[in-house]
Amino acid sequence: MLVVMNQQATQEQIDAVVAVIESRGYTARPMPGGQRVAICVLYNQGAVDSSPLVGMSGVKEVIRVTNPYKLVSRELQPEDSIINVGGVLIGNGHLSMIAGPCAIESEDQALTIARHVKAAGADLFRGGAFKPRTSPYSFQGLGEEGLKIMARVREETGMPIVTEAMDHEVFDLVEEYADMVQIGTRNMQNFTLLRRAGRSRKPILLKRGLSATIEEWLMAAEYIMEGGNSQVVLCERGVRTFSHHSRNTLDLSAIPVVRKESHLPIIVDPSHAAGRRNQVIPLSRAAVAVGCHGLMVEVHHQPDAAMSDGAQSLYPGQFQQLCRQIDSLFEIFKPLGNMDEMVI
Ligand code: PEP
Ligand code: MN
Repeated sequence: MLVVMNQQATQEQIDAVVAVIESRGYTARPMPGGQRVAICVLYNQGAVDSSPLVGMSGVKEVIRVTNPYKLVSRELQPEDSIINVGGVLIGNGHLSMIAGPCAIESEDQALTIARHVKAAGADLFRGGAFKPRTSPYSFQGLGEEGLKIMARVREETGMPIVTEAMDHEVFDLVEEYADMVQIGTRNMQNFTLLRRAGRSRKPILLKRGLSATIEEWLMAAEYIMEGGNSQVVLCERGVRTFSHHSRNTLDLSAIPVVRKESHLPIIVDPSHAAGRRNQVIPLSRAAVAVGCHGLMVEVHHQPDAAMSDGAQSLYPGQFQQLCRQIDSLFEIFKPLGNMDEMVI
Protein backbone atom coordinates (compact mmCIF):
# COMPACT_ATOMS: atom_id res chain seq x y z
CA MET A 1 0.00 0.00 0.00
CA LEU A 2 1.06 3.52 -0.75
CA VAL A 3 0.05 6.63 1.18
CA VAL A 4 0.41 9.66 -1.10
CA MET A 5 0.79 12.92 0.81
CA ASN A 6 -0.36 16.35 -0.37
CA GLN A 7 2.28 18.53 -1.96
CA GLN A 8 2.12 20.86 1.06
CA ALA A 9 2.20 18.08 3.69
CA THR A 10 4.40 18.97 6.66
CA GLN A 11 7.06 16.75 8.22
CA GLU A 12 4.83 16.35 11.30
CA GLN A 13 1.99 15.03 9.13
CA ILE A 14 4.39 12.59 7.43
CA ASP A 15 5.73 11.43 10.82
CA ALA A 16 2.17 10.92 12.10
CA VAL A 17 1.34 8.65 9.13
CA VAL A 18 4.58 6.70 9.64
CA ALA A 19 3.69 6.24 13.33
CA VAL A 20 0.23 4.85 12.53
CA ILE A 21 1.67 2.40 9.99
CA GLU A 22 4.40 1.24 12.37
CA SER A 23 1.98 0.89 15.29
CA ARG A 24 0.34 -1.85 13.23
CA GLY A 25 3.61 -3.76 12.96
CA TYR A 26 4.51 -2.77 9.37
CA THR A 27 7.48 -0.81 8.09
CA ALA A 28 6.86 2.64 6.62
CA ARG A 29 9.29 3.92 3.98
CA PRO A 30 8.77 7.58 3.00
CA MET A 31 9.98 8.19 -0.56
CA PRO A 32 10.38 11.87 -1.46
CA GLY A 33 9.47 12.43 -5.13
CA GLY A 34 9.62 15.49 -7.38
CA GLN A 35 6.04 16.53 -6.58
CA ARG A 36 5.13 14.87 -3.29
CA VAL A 37 6.15 12.39 -0.62
CA ALA A 38 4.72 8.89 -0.89
CA ILE A 39 4.95 6.53 2.07
CA CYS A 40 5.30 2.90 1.14
CA VAL A 41 4.01 0.20 3.51
CA LEU A 42 6.38 -2.78 3.61
CA TYR A 43 6.30 -6.23 5.23
CA ASN A 44 2.50 -6.55 5.20
CA GLN A 45 1.17 -10.04 4.50
CA GLY A 46 -2.03 -9.47 2.60
CA ALA A 47 -4.13 -6.33 2.37
CA VAL A 48 -3.67 -3.47 4.85
CA ASP A 49 -6.72 -1.74 6.33
CA SER A 50 -6.48 1.79 4.92
CA SER A 51 -9.34 3.34 6.93
CA PRO A 52 -7.21 4.85 9.76
CA LEU A 53 -4.98 6.55 7.20
CA VAL A 54 -7.48 7.93 4.69
CA GLY A 55 -8.73 10.79 6.86
CA MET A 56 -5.38 11.85 8.34
CA SER A 57 -4.28 15.40 7.69
CA GLY A 58 -1.83 15.81 4.83
CA VAL A 59 -2.94 12.55 3.19
CA LYS A 60 -4.00 12.94 -0.46
CA GLU A 61 -4.85 9.34 -1.27
CA VAL A 62 -4.17 5.76 -0.30
CA ILE A 63 -3.35 3.45 -3.18
CA ARG A 64 -3.41 -0.34 -3.05
CA VAL A 65 -0.23 -1.63 -4.71
CA THR A 66 -1.18 -4.76 -6.55
CA ASN A 67 2.29 -5.73 -7.75
CA PRO A 68 4.67 -7.66 -5.48
CA TYR A 69 7.36 -5.05 -6.19
CA LYS A 70 6.86 -1.74 -4.48
CA LEU A 71 9.95 0.45 -4.20
CA VAL A 72 10.87 -0.11 -7.85
CA SER A 73 7.35 0.54 -9.12
CA ARG A 74 6.07 3.59 -10.90
CA GLU A 75 3.10 3.58 -8.56
CA LEU A 76 5.48 4.65 -5.84
CA GLN A 77 7.53 7.06 -7.94
CA PRO A 78 5.92 8.34 -11.13
CA GLU A 79 9.02 10.26 -12.27
CA ASP A 80 11.97 8.46 -13.85
CA SER A 81 14.99 7.84 -11.66
CA ILE A 82 18.19 9.25 -13.04
CA ILE A 83 21.29 7.52 -11.73
CA ASN A 84 24.59 9.35 -11.41
CA VAL A 85 27.54 7.06 -12.11
CA GLY A 86 30.72 8.98 -11.35
CA GLY A 87 29.27 12.09 -13.01
CA VAL A 88 27.62 10.30 -15.96
CA LEU A 89 23.82 10.38 -15.84
CA ILE A 90 21.80 7.29 -16.80
CA GLY A 91 18.06 7.72 -17.24
CA ASN A 92 15.44 9.56 -19.19
CA GLY A 93 16.82 12.25 -21.49
CA HIS A 94 20.25 10.60 -21.67
CA LEU A 95 21.52 7.81 -23.86
CA SER A 96 24.54 6.39 -22.09
CA MET A 97 27.12 4.31 -23.87
CA ILE A 98 29.09 1.75 -21.85
CA ALA A 99 31.86 0.00 -23.76
CA GLY A 100 34.99 -2.05 -23.25
CA PRO A 101 36.31 -5.60 -23.41
CA CYS A 102 34.58 -8.61 -21.90
CA ALA A 103 37.60 -9.22 -19.65
CA ILE A 104 40.53 -7.07 -18.61
CA GLU A 105 43.55 -8.97 -19.96
CA SER A 106 46.43 -6.52 -19.47
CA GLU A 107 47.02 -2.81 -18.95
CA ASP A 108 48.01 -2.39 -22.56
CA GLN A 109 44.85 -4.16 -23.81
CA ALA A 110 42.54 -2.18 -21.51
CA LEU A 111 44.10 1.21 -22.27
CA THR A 112 44.17 0.59 -26.02
CA ILE A 113 40.47 -0.31 -26.06
CA ALA A 114 39.57 2.49 -23.64
CA ARG A 115 41.23 5.13 -25.84
CA HIS A 116 39.34 3.85 -28.88
CA VAL A 117 35.92 3.75 -27.21
CA LYS A 118 36.42 7.11 -25.52
CA ALA A 119 37.32 8.73 -28.86
CA ALA A 120 34.20 7.18 -30.42
CA GLY A 121 31.97 8.62 -27.69
CA ALA A 122 31.68 6.08 -24.86
CA ASP A 123 30.61 7.53 -21.51
CA LEU A 124 31.64 4.63 -19.27
CA PHE A 125 34.23 1.88 -19.49
CA ARG A 126 33.33 -1.75 -18.83
CA GLY A 127 35.53 -4.80 -18.24
CA GLY A 128 35.55 -7.93 -16.13
CA ALA A 129 38.16 -8.56 -13.46
CA PHE A 130 36.21 -11.48 -11.96
CA LYS A 131 34.63 -13.45 -14.78
CA PRO A 132 31.73 -15.89 -14.47
CA ARG A 133 32.82 -18.59 -16.94
CA THR A 134 30.89 -21.70 -17.89
CA SER A 135 34.07 -23.77 -17.79
CA PRO A 136 36.44 -23.80 -14.82
CA TYR A 137 39.27 -24.18 -17.36
CA SER A 138 38.51 -20.86 -19.06
CA PHE A 139 40.20 -17.57 -18.18
CA GLN A 140 38.69 -16.43 -14.88
CA GLY A 141 39.89 -12.81 -14.94
CA LEU A 142 42.85 -11.01 -13.38
CA GLY A 143 41.10 -10.39 -10.06
CA GLU A 144 42.34 -7.36 -8.12
CA GLU A 145 45.04 -6.68 -10.71
CA GLY A 146 42.20 -6.21 -13.23
CA LEU A 147 40.51 -3.70 -10.92
CA LYS A 148 43.77 -1.76 -10.58
CA ILE A 149 44.09 -1.61 -14.34
CA MET A 150 40.53 -0.30 -14.59
CA ALA A 151 41.33 2.41 -12.07
CA ARG A 152 44.27 3.45 -14.27
CA VAL A 153 41.93 3.57 -17.27
CA ARG A 154 39.63 5.88 -15.33
CA GLU A 155 42.57 8.06 -14.37
CA GLU A 156 43.79 8.39 -17.92
CA THR A 157 40.50 8.70 -19.80
CA GLY A 158 38.16 10.16 -17.18
CA MET A 159 35.58 7.43 -17.90
CA PRO A 160 33.86 5.97 -14.81
CA ILE A 161 34.22 2.19 -14.63
CA VAL A 162 31.69 -0.65 -14.44
CA THR A 163 32.73 -4.13 -13.35
CA GLU A 164 31.16 -7.27 -11.91
CA ALA A 165 31.17 -8.48 -8.31
CA MET A 166 30.66 -12.20 -8.71
CA ASP A 167 30.12 -13.06 -5.09
CA HIS A 168 29.70 -11.72 -1.60
CA GLU A 169 33.36 -12.41 -0.86
CA VAL A 170 34.74 -9.95 -3.42
CA PHE A 171 32.01 -7.33 -3.19
CA ASP A 172 33.96 -5.05 -0.79
CA LEU A 173 36.99 -5.09 -3.04
CA VAL A 174 35.04 -4.44 -6.25
CA GLU A 175 33.07 -1.68 -4.58
CA GLU A 176 36.30 0.10 -3.62
CA TYR A 177 37.36 0.44 -7.23
CA ALA A 178 34.16 0.51 -9.29
CA ASP A 179 31.92 3.48 -10.02
CA MET A 180 29.10 1.03 -10.72
CA VAL A 181 29.01 -2.59 -9.55
CA GLN A 182 27.55 -5.13 -11.94
CA ILE A 183 25.50 -8.10 -10.78
CA GLY A 184 25.65 -10.61 -13.60
CA THR A 185 22.96 -12.73 -15.15
CA ARG A 186 23.89 -15.84 -13.23
CA ASN A 187 23.57 -13.96 -9.96
CA MET A 188 20.29 -12.15 -10.49
CA GLN A 189 18.67 -14.25 -7.80
CA ASN A 190 21.67 -14.56 -5.51
CA PHE A 191 19.77 -13.02 -2.63
CA THR A 192 22.71 -12.59 -0.25
CA LEU A 193 24.58 -10.75 -3.00
CA LEU A 194 21.51 -8.59 -3.69
CA ARG A 195 21.31 -7.74 0.01
CA ARG A 196 24.98 -6.79 0.00
CA ALA A 197 24.35 -4.57 -3.03
CA GLY A 198 21.50 -3.00 -1.09
CA ARG A 199 23.98 -1.87 1.55
CA SER A 200 26.35 -0.42 -1.03
CA ARG A 201 26.67 3.28 -1.75
CA LYS A 202 27.66 2.58 -5.34
CA PRO A 203 25.12 2.33 -8.19
CA ILE A 204 24.30 -1.25 -9.18
CA LEU A 205 23.90 -2.57 -12.72
CA LEU A 206 21.48 -5.49 -12.40
CA LYS A 207 21.43 -7.81 -15.38
CA ARG A 208 18.37 -9.87 -16.16
CA GLY A 209 18.68 -13.56 -15.27
CA LEU A 210 19.15 -16.11 -18.03
CA SER A 211 15.51 -17.10 -17.94
CA ALA A 212 14.01 -14.62 -15.52
CA THR A 213 10.56 -13.16 -15.94
CA ILE A 214 10.26 -9.39 -15.71
CA GLU A 215 8.53 -9.79 -12.36
CA GLU A 216 11.44 -11.85 -10.96
CA TRP A 217 13.89 -9.28 -12.29
CA LEU A 218 12.04 -6.37 -10.70
CA MET A 219 11.82 -8.31 -7.43
CA ALA A 220 15.62 -8.69 -7.53
CA ALA A 221 15.88 -4.90 -7.91
CA GLU A 222 13.41 -4.60 -5.03
CA TYR A 223 15.89 -6.50 -2.79
CA ILE A 224 18.55 -3.89 -3.53
CA MET A 225 16.21 -0.95 -2.98
CA GLU A 226 14.75 -2.51 0.16
CA GLY A 227 18.29 -2.68 1.52
CA GLY A 228 18.58 1.09 1.15
CA ASN A 229 20.31 1.51 -2.21
CA SER A 230 18.01 3.19 -4.70
CA GLN A 231 20.68 3.59 -7.37
CA VAL A 232 19.80 0.66 -9.61
CA VAL A 233 20.08 0.41 -13.39
CA LEU A 234 18.50 -2.61 -15.10
CA CYS A 235 20.15 -4.34 -18.06
CA GLU A 236 18.38 -6.57 -20.58
CA ARG A 237 20.97 -8.95 -22.06
CA GLY A 238 18.90 -11.61 -23.76
CA VAL A 239 17.12 -14.63 -22.39
CA ARG A 240 17.48 -18.30 -23.15
CA THR A 241 15.19 -19.70 -25.83
CA PHE A 242 15.31 -22.65 -28.23
CA SER A 243 16.95 -20.51 -30.94
CA HIS A 244 20.51 -21.11 -32.01
CA HIS A 245 20.95 -18.29 -34.48
CA SER A 246 22.07 -16.10 -31.59
CA ARG A 247 23.62 -16.81 -28.18
CA ASN A 248 20.45 -15.63 -26.42
CA THR A 249 17.27 -13.94 -27.59
CA LEU A 250 17.23 -10.20 -26.97
CA ASP A 251 13.87 -9.47 -25.41
CA LEU A 252 13.22 -5.98 -26.73
CA SER A 253 9.63 -6.17 -25.52
CA ALA A 254 11.01 -5.98 -21.99
CA ILE A 255 12.00 -2.34 -22.43
CA PRO A 256 8.56 -0.71 -22.78
CA VAL A 257 7.18 -3.10 -20.14
CA VAL A 258 9.89 -2.23 -17.60
CA ARG A 259 9.54 1.49 -18.38
CA LYS A 260 5.82 1.26 -17.76
CA GLU A 261 6.20 -0.71 -14.53
CA SER A 262 9.28 0.91 -13.02
CA HIS A 263 10.95 4.28 -12.63
CA LEU A 264 14.41 2.67 -12.85
CA PRO A 265 16.53 3.21 -15.98
CA ILE A 266 16.97 0.27 -18.33
CA ILE A 267 19.88 -0.31 -20.67
CA VAL A 268 20.52 -3.06 -23.23
CA ASP A 269 23.54 -5.32 -23.71
CA PRO A 270 23.30 -6.51 -27.32
CA SER A 271 26.69 -8.28 -27.15
CA HIS A 272 25.75 -11.07 -24.73
CA ALA A 273 22.34 -11.33 -26.39
CA ALA A 274 23.78 -11.81 -29.87
CA GLY A 275 27.00 -13.66 -29.21
CA ARG A 276 27.95 -12.69 -32.77
CA ARG A 277 29.49 -9.45 -33.86
CA ASN A 278 27.34 -8.97 -36.96
CA GLN A 279 24.12 -8.79 -34.94
CA VAL A 280 25.32 -6.23 -32.41
CA ILE A 281 24.81 -3.03 -34.44
CA PRO A 282 21.29 -3.88 -35.73
CA LEU A 283 20.15 -4.95 -32.25
CA SER A 284 21.59 -1.75 -30.75
CA ARG A 285 19.63 0.38 -33.21
CA ALA A 286 16.46 -1.50 -32.33
CA ALA A 287 17.10 -1.15 -28.60
CA VAL A 288 17.42 2.62 -28.92
CA ALA A 289 14.24 2.73 -30.97
CA VAL A 290 12.22 0.95 -28.27
CA GLY A 291 13.36 3.42 -25.65
CA CYS A 292 16.33 2.04 -23.70
CA HIS A 293 18.41 4.52 -21.71
CA GLY A 294 21.75 3.22 -22.88
CA LEU A 295 23.78 0.37 -24.32
CA MET A 296 26.56 -1.81 -22.97
CA VAL A 297 28.74 -3.12 -25.79
CA GLU A 298 31.83 -5.32 -25.85
CA VAL A 299 34.71 -3.97 -27.94
CA HIS A 300 38.17 -5.46 -28.58
CA HIS A 301 41.01 -4.25 -30.79
CA GLN A 302 42.10 -7.86 -31.44
CA PRO A 303 38.94 -9.92 -30.96
CA ASP A 304 40.50 -13.06 -32.45
CA ALA A 305 43.02 -13.05 -29.62
CA ALA A 306 40.53 -12.08 -26.88
CA MET A 307 40.53 -14.28 -23.79
CA SER A 308 36.72 -14.23 -23.68
CA ASP A 309 33.81 -13.32 -25.93
CA GLY A 310 35.92 -12.33 -28.93
CA ALA A 311 33.23 -13.50 -31.36
CA GLN A 312 30.77 -10.92 -30.12
CA SER A 313 33.24 -8.06 -29.62
CA LEU A 314 33.07 -5.17 -32.07
CA TYR A 315 36.21 -3.83 -33.71
CA PRO A 316 36.89 -0.23 -32.64
CA GLY A 317 35.91 1.03 -36.12
CA GLN A 318 32.55 -0.76 -35.85
CA PHE A 319 31.96 0.76 -32.43
CA GLN A 320 32.65 4.21 -33.86
CA GLN A 321 30.12 3.49 -36.61
CA LEU A 322 27.60 2.32 -34.01
CA CYS A 323 28.02 5.52 -31.97
CA ARG A 324 27.41 7.66 -35.06
CA GLN A 325 24.26 5.73 -35.96
CA ILE A 326 22.96 5.85 -32.41
CA ASP A 327 23.54 9.61 -32.19
CA SER A 328 21.52 10.13 -35.39
CA LEU A 329 18.73 7.90 -34.08
CA PHE A 330 18.60 9.77 -30.81
CA GLU A 331 18.33 13.05 -32.74
CA ILE A 332 15.28 11.64 -34.55
CA PHE A 333 13.58 10.67 -31.30
CA LYS A 334 14.35 13.81 -29.32
CA PRO A 335 11.90 16.13 -31.13
CA LEU A 336 9.19 13.51 -30.57
CA GLY A 337 9.25 14.46 -26.90
CA ASN A 338 9.61 12.48 -23.74
CA MET A 339 9.93 8.80 -24.63
CA ASP A 340 7.89 7.99 -21.54
CA GLU A 341 4.82 9.50 -23.10
CA MET A 342 5.13 6.86 -25.76
CA VAL A 343 5.51 3.89 -23.45
CA ILE A 344 3.51 4.62 -20.33
C1 PEP B 1 29.42 -9.45 -18.66
O1 PEP B 1 28.76 -8.42 -18.93
O2 PEP B 1 30.64 -9.45 -18.54
C2 PEP B 1 28.71 -10.72 -18.46
C3 PEP B 1 29.33 -11.80 -18.02
O3 PEP B 1 27.42 -10.66 -18.78
P1 PEP B 1 26.18 -11.60 -18.37
O4 PEP B 1 26.15 -11.66 -16.87
O5 PEP B 1 25.02 -10.85 -18.97
O6 PEP B 1 26.40 -12.93 -19.02
MN1 MN C 1 31.40 -11.08 -22.11
